[in-house]
Amino acid sequence: MRRTPDALRDGLAALDAAQLRRRASLPSPNAIDFSSNDYLGLARHPALAKAMAAAAASYGAGSGAAHLVTGHGPEHAALEAELADFVGRESALLFATGYMANLGVVGALVGRGDLVLSDALNHASLIDACTLSRAEMQRFPHLGHASAGHLLAEWRAGHPAASAAIITDAVFSMDGDLAPLPELAACARQHGAWLLADDAHGLGVLGAHGRGSCEHFNLDSEAVPVLVGTLGKAFGSFGAFVAGERDLIDWILQKARTYIYTTAPPQPVAAATRAALRLAESEGWRRTRLLTLIGDFRGRCATAGVPLSASTTPIQPLLLGDSGRALQVSEWLLERGLIVKAIRPPTVPAGSARLRIALSARHSDRDIAKLVELLAEALSLFP
Ligand SMILES: *Cc1c(COP(=O)(O)O)cnc(C)c1O
Repeated sequence: MRRTPDALRDGLAALDAAQLRRRASLPSPNAIDFSSNDYLGLARHPALAKAMAAAAASYGAGSGAAHLVTGHGPEHAALEAELADFVGRESALLFATGYMANLGVVGALVGRGDLVLSDALNHASLIDACTLSRAEMQRFPHLGHASAGHLLAEWRAGHPAASAAIITDAVFSMDGDLAPLPELAACARQHGAWLLADDAHGLGVLGAHGRGSCEHFNLDSEAVPVLVGTLGKAFGSFGAFVAGERDLIDWILQKARTYIYTTAPPQPVAAATRAALRLAESEGWRRTRLLTLIGDFRGRCATAGVPLSASTTPIQPLLLGDSGRALQVSEWLLERGLIVKAIRPPTVPAGSARLRIALSARHSDRDIAKLVELLAEALSLFP
């Protein structure tokens, strides 16, 4: 399509007609938010705001330059060390966002003539990272580690000297299910490939200490050498990091263009994340409370006949299929004080529009009861 101004107007009208037009809306201050990724209830915690304000008073609002110029400060350095420690890896490198971390890290590890194997439901930033890397991209069916193994073995036979990487969300952002990391790790090791796990939604939530999907599966840096984490979800702050062995991280620092050619995030943001990390470690009740709420929510849904998929994480999708129906239910819930956003294609595959319900330690038992009651009513009103 030639994108003339008229064509853009027609394109927007077509999105409207298909119930696929996207709009940003301001949050309703009194509604209960079941769509944010603030799983531990830290985003509005006063300790983060306080740490941010103190760091702003010391260092100012802006970092002034890229990390490798003069933008790197003591809060960044301390946070990198603490993050590496938290996930049990030798070293960590901060990025401005998870999107940029994925673009930078994948591009540092594979290039033209190499292979990336990508789960069919990977996050958009991983898909774009694969495309931008110029490596050959092959998708394997969602969770299909056996398929990934076959594809990798076949490709490896013809490319003994090239780099390969298996790339996956550790917890899938729109489904809440877990990647088969142990099997993917075995497959990557057998065929000499990197394994990159993007643990945006597992970090702070999964594992006995909230160290994420690797702790959940008991996988070290040999099994999952490239671990990406984001800081804007369970940690309630902003930013991202990659963690792994020292040489790998130093290589990424040399090569990742989204690390090198961009202004370092403000130090107050890093200071807030450090405060969040301390709370995640010292207040284990947040994670156990969250797990209790997930169990409670699923139990109530089973009783009320609200059909859920098998997720054990705070991401609990309710599949509705049709985009118009998903919007109707979402709007109906908002009128009753609940924010449960509809997720539509192309974020999810065609015909699988859904409500993506995200639970948080800050929800009360009554919030959960109200949610399930209204979901059940909505399903009968909008069949
Ligand atoms: C949110 C998300 C990202 C992007 O992280 P940002 O810091 O928000 O850019 C990357 N990967 C996954 C799986 C995510 O869910």
